[in-house]
Amino acid sequence: MSQTSDQIPYEALAERFGTPLYVYNADELTRAHERYRQAFAGLDPLICYAVKANSNLSILRHFAQLGCGFDIVSGGELARVIAAGGDPAKTVFSGVGKSRDEIRDALEAGIKCFNIESLPEIDRIEAIAAISGHIAPVSLRINPNINAQTHPYISTGLRDNKFGIAIDQAEEAYRYAASRPHLRVVGIDCHIGSQLLDLSPLEEACARILELADRLEAAGIRLEHIDLGGGIGIVYDENSEREPDLTAYAQTVSRLLSSRSLKLLLEPGRSLCGNAGVLLTRVEYHKRHHGKNFLIVDAAMNDLMRPALYQAYHRIETLTRRGQPEITADIVGPVCESSDFFAKERTIAATEGDLLLIHSAGAYASSMASNYNTRPRAAEVLIENGQARLIRHRENIKAMLAAELPCL
Ligand SMILES: *Cc1c(COP(=O)(O)O)cnc(C)c1O
Repeated sequence: MSQTSDQIPYEALAERFGTPLYVYNADELTRAHERYRQAFAGLDPLICYAVKANSNLSILRHFAQLGCGFDIVSGGELARVIAAGGDPAKTVFSGVGKSRDEIRDALEAGIKCFNIESLPEIDRIEAIAAISGHIAPVSLRINPNINAQTHPYISTGLRDNKFGIAIDQAEEAYRYAASRPHLRVVGIDCHIGSQLLDLSPLEEACARILELADRLEAAGIRLEHIDLGGGIGIVYDENSEREPDLTAYAQTVSRLLSSRSLKLLLEPGRSLCGNAGVLLTRVEYHKRHHGKNFLIVDAAMNDLMRPALYQAYHRIETLTRRGQPEITADIVGPVCESSDFFAKERTIAATEGDLLLIHSAGAYASSMASNYNTRPRAAEVLIENGQARLIRHRENIKAMLAAELPCL
């Protein structure tokens, strides 16, 4: 569950660090991790936190200290894991477009496994491993052709998506990978989508992947691990959504795995940090026109893209309590795009000067932030042991401009 204003002095933090401001709670990160540990207790999985959900170094360090591995999708994310003290030997590398440099660096770092997403990637990794004298540990990401029943932009396990190797090509791909002298086939993986509230598609994917693992074993290809990806959803809207049943999912996975000696890997992102963070923003203007209310806030789509990208819902709370009347308003940012909104037709008691708390902004918020409209990216704060610590400076405009070559 996300935080309410009683537990954290948001007003004081906004005064001290300015707005917009991301605020994360370390205890919530720990609790979310603990939920996985408890649900999957019998299986002792390696939990590889999906770095792209929130890649701040202090967040990565927190998960590294809890014993997590990492799921990365770029060389930049590998550099972050290493800088945060994460263990490359517990890091898996996913993504459809790994470049030669990224593969070379990951081999040098000694990552746990490449999650290969296509046949040409098998050849590329083999070639680079051969040149550099490595044996690359690999898993094939299988696309099980399952509808995750989520937003189409975050559904990844259907045949038509760009992700993974089609399940009907998988045996042939495995035979080919196993024949390459510089590859060592160690696992099988899938990731069918994100923000799943009904976990039955994940169970179905697990069953299909395991059937395939059995066929591979019969063909003499023995795997060490199965990686079921991430995708467990979180509650953004308490009125319409229910927390997915992680324990029931874990029990199903446990039952399916029971007769097999495969180590379990998981790659959760959103469900480890999404409800551990909020975005604080101040109302700049209360604009009324044509009978409509607009609350124009100082955060924008460049700070939190999810509403613009997926028409996502975020709960928004007013922190300043001055008995303002409830209004129905569009809550929007200053960016020059009509998609720059946080909420449409929302009932809220707020007006100019009020501090708003946008909930569930721990995942896919700061990590997706941009400088669009030459807006500096917001500061980030982590609350640990009751203390607020700045974990990312607010960007400054001078430094932003300095990265560009002068036009003299
Ligand atoms: C994004 C991603 C994840 C994490 O997904 P969540 O929905 O945040 O849990 C895990 N694995 C892969 C391959 C991903 O691309």
